[in-house]
Amino acid sequence: MQSNSSSSAVISVVNLNHYFGKGQLRKQALFNINLQINIGEIIIMTGPSGSGKTTLLTLVGGLRSAQEGSLKVLGKELCGAKEKQLTEARRHNGYIFQAHNLHGSLTALQNVRMGLEVHRGIPPAEMNDRAKEMLEAVGLGNRINYYPDDLSGGQKQRVAIARALVGKPKIVLADEPTAALDKKSGRDVVELMQKLAKEQGCTILLVTHDNRILDIADRIVYMEDGRLISDGSSLDALAIAR
Ligand code: ADP
Ligand code: MG
Repeated sequence: MQSNSSSSAVISVVNLNHYFGKGQLRKQALFNINLQINIGEIIIMTGPSGSGKTTLLTLVGGLRSAQEGSLKVLGKELCGAKEKQLTEARRHNGYIFQAHNLHGSLTALQNVRMGLEVHRGIPPAEMNDRAKEMLEAVGLGNRINYYPDDLSGGQKQRVAIARALVGKPKIVLADEPTAALDKKSGRDVVELMQKLAKEQGCTILLVTHDNRILDIADRIVYMEDGRLISDGSSLDALAIAR
């Protein structure tokens, strides 16, 4: 029998282990991770560099395949999943990384449209409208035809957020999204993510070292040496993180 908490879980991680390398070079990066994340929760994951945060995030996002244990995302088991199933799983996610990864040869509008290209059957005119609306929502309505080189760091990150959210993903995965931003733009960017996520009812898993944004989380999860030290269900993680 599964516990009650797993019935509303969007992400359910049970006894998950992960290894990099083969043979003598094989090194364990994640040790027996257990974590349940519910619909609409904003989870911040924190912990020292090298503790396994990015590894866990990429597994949840279907960006690499889970090896051992169980990892269910939106009810689908990703442990042992084939490339085709991982590709399908990725369609439900929006990704925001530290480096915004915008295409330099595309305008802000074209970059945001990329977030819709994975969804089949949306007419081009509608794609443009939705990309434009999303850029307006992130405060860049007057920058839609700008190229990344002509935007500030905070503006570029807002384009990346618009790209991640334009497809109305069920899950947003963000890896240190404020690391390259000054205090004010960092704060603006996470508040924007929070607002848009609450409006769209999506779940956010956000990795950060940035103490200034911890208060946007419903729960703070703490990792150390490949282990989940706290799943934030009590206030201890907040104490550790500070
Ligand atoms: P964090 O995001 O918390 O800084 P990572 O998940 O990036 O931590 O890394 C966790 C551990 O796994 C580290 O020891 C790191 O060196 C190792 N690691 C991460 N990615 C790879 C990889 N592609 N190949 C081999 N080892 C890796
Ligand atoms: Mg990392």
